[in-house]
Amino acid sequence: AKKQGKNRFYWFEAPMENELRFRNELEAGIRRGISRGEFVPFYEQQIDLESGTLTGFEMLARWQSPELGTVGPDIFIPIAEEIGVISEMSERLMAQAFEDAKNWDQDLTLSVNISPVQMRDPWFAQKILKLMVQHNFPPNRLDIEITESCLHENLGMVRSMITSLRNQGVHISLDDFGTGYSSLSQLRSLPFDRLKIDRSFIHEMREEDHGTKLVDAIISMSDGLKLPITAEGIENAEVLEALKKMGSMKGQGYHYGRPEPADMVLERLKTAGM
Ligand code: C2E
Ligand code: CA
Ligand code: CA
Ligand code: CA
Repeated sequence: AKKQGKNRFYWFEAPMENELRFRNELEAGIRRGISRGEFVPFYEQQIDLESGTLTGFEMLARWQSPELGTVGPDIFIPIAEEIGVISEMSERLMAQAFEDAKNWDQDLTLSVNISPVQMRDPWFAQKILKLMVQHNFPPNRLDIEITESCLHENLGMVRSMITSLRNQGVHISLDDFGTGYSSLSQLRSLPFDRLKIDRSFIHEMREEDHGTKLVDAIISMSDGLKLPITAEGIENAEVLEALKKMGSMKGQGYHYGRPEPADMVLERLKTAGM
């Protein structure tokens, strides 16, 4: 009986132990990676669909881990939030992005993604503004993307943050629109500058007529609210043409290119004379 118990212990506990060890190593790796500068910004082009001109870039974080290779944000952002290092990580990434963007044409904007966890910090707006002063980065080139899940937080606080950032010239976009639970009245009551239609809606456009109608409805609604739009996840020319028929908007996606590191972006801009 004793032996059987031991066996059971072995079979059931070992995989969980390994999982826990991996998780602990991942957490330690993330902490270490922050101080070693392993988290770097990649950039995705944002395009005015009608003219086809580049308007700016969205910064997307990558972890260049010596052990794991290049790791995407869907893996490390939730962990960074959980272990309380998301603000430090984000501020370092933003500082780097401000420096990168200073080498671009001064008309090009920089979009950054902000975690709902960061929005809980009452000093969030002040921190961002201070960072821009430190790096001599003009606030009107910055676009902060917040998701609908931020709207579940203290709404009064979110509103005053948005307001103080906008008063300094920073633009605020509502990201991943349609995937959360924001109500139309919230959309109207918060002073957003732009709405980003989630790529899941854009991807359904090619599959069925229904998907196209839904995107069309979102665009009509934003027109009514006088909110400019960005469509994310444009993967091919057919979707691009369909969107262009629906109105004027910005867009991004693999059709225009994959997110790239700063040096590749700079090379591309130099070739284009920007
Ligand atoms: P997001 O803000 O919705 O960013 C767009 C994501 O879609 C990016 O994934 C991008 O690489 C991917 N994408 C772009 N074009 C296409 C396309 O045509 N087709 C498809 N299938 N995908 C496309 P990525 O870089 O893995 O980022 C995932 C998410 O991680 C982002 O979603 C954003 O919410 C979050 N994220 C990225 N960087 C940061 C950061 O610095 N801070 C925070 N808090 N979140 C970040
Ligand atoms: Ca985004
Ligand atoms: Ca999205
Ligand atoms: Ca997202």
